[in-house]
Amino acid sequence: MSRTVYVNGDYLPEAEAKVSVFDRGFLMADGVYEVTSVLGGKLIDFAGHAKRLARSLAELEIRNPHDEAEWLAIHREIVAKNDITDGMVYLQVTRGNPGDRDFAYPPADLAPTVVLFTQSKPGLAESPVAKTGWKVISVPDIRWGRRDIKTVQLLYPSMAKMMAKAAHVDDAWFVEDGFVTEGSSNNTYIVKGGKIVTRALSSDILHGITRAAVLRFAAEAQMEIEERNFSVEEAKTADEAFATSASAFVMPVVELDGAPIGNGKVGPVATRLREIYLDEVRKAAV
Ligand code: PMP
Repeated sequence: MSRTVYVNGDYLPEAEAKVSVFDRGFLMADGVYEVTSVLGGKLIDFAGHAKRLARSLAELEIRNPHDEAEWLAIHREIVAKNDITDGMVYLQVTRGNPGDRDFAYPPADLAPTVVLFTQSKPGLAESPVAKTGWKVISVPDIRWGRRDIKTVQLLYPSMAKMMAKAAHVDDAWFVEDGFVTEGSSNNTYIVKGGKIVTRALSSDILHGITRAAVLRFAAEAQMEIEERNFSVEEAKTADEAFATSASAFVMPVVELDGAPIGNGKVGPVATRLREIYLDEVRKAAV
């Protein structure tokens, strides 16, 4: 079935949804994005995604064309028009179409390009792989130094996914200076002696909206959290590991570079956090 896609104020059949070949997003990867999950027809952690979008745009000096209420209205409309029960809303804002190619930014009053589309994923929260967990490999993190900005430069994460595929595993964990930064499209955690360890926020990693929520719920549940670097070796001797993202929620990780983590089965901390996370965000969904 043809989707309805949002482009710069219009809701169009996907075949008619087009942007210019001169768009800075196309020529320079000069744009940012957000992915917000939909469960039961409602948006999960919308405010967090809207705030990070505003921050990413500000860091790149791209004008934010809408306030949070307007973004919410557009998200709701595209969910309704596509009759999404469970799935995702993908949003992209680029610096726009200056009508030619030039390294220098166009004048700041150029209208940004805004595109939103939906992906229907019935049963998104009941993913069977959450019961068995992901296997991952480690790969060198050769991305740029502003990973805190959610840009559409996703070539290396795509390459990492292909490396994972070639190794017959589910994902790749990036490693820099011996320490895990994050997953190809998720934040990463280990659990040792009941303590949750995850890398602290910096420009080395994306500030995951799911990460923020999961750490808040973990603290409320009196779980101990340590925000610090961990190595591949430490992860291999951890009791458990997991990853978080807006579309995978809390995903247990059971194997790293061929070595089982803990007993190689989905652990109790990841299981509990997944349950708490899904319960709480469903309650707060808009
Ligand atoms: N790190 C990276 C590199 C990502 O691409 C993502 C997902 N967009 C995340 C972390 C998780 O962020 P979020 O929880 O906001 O989806």
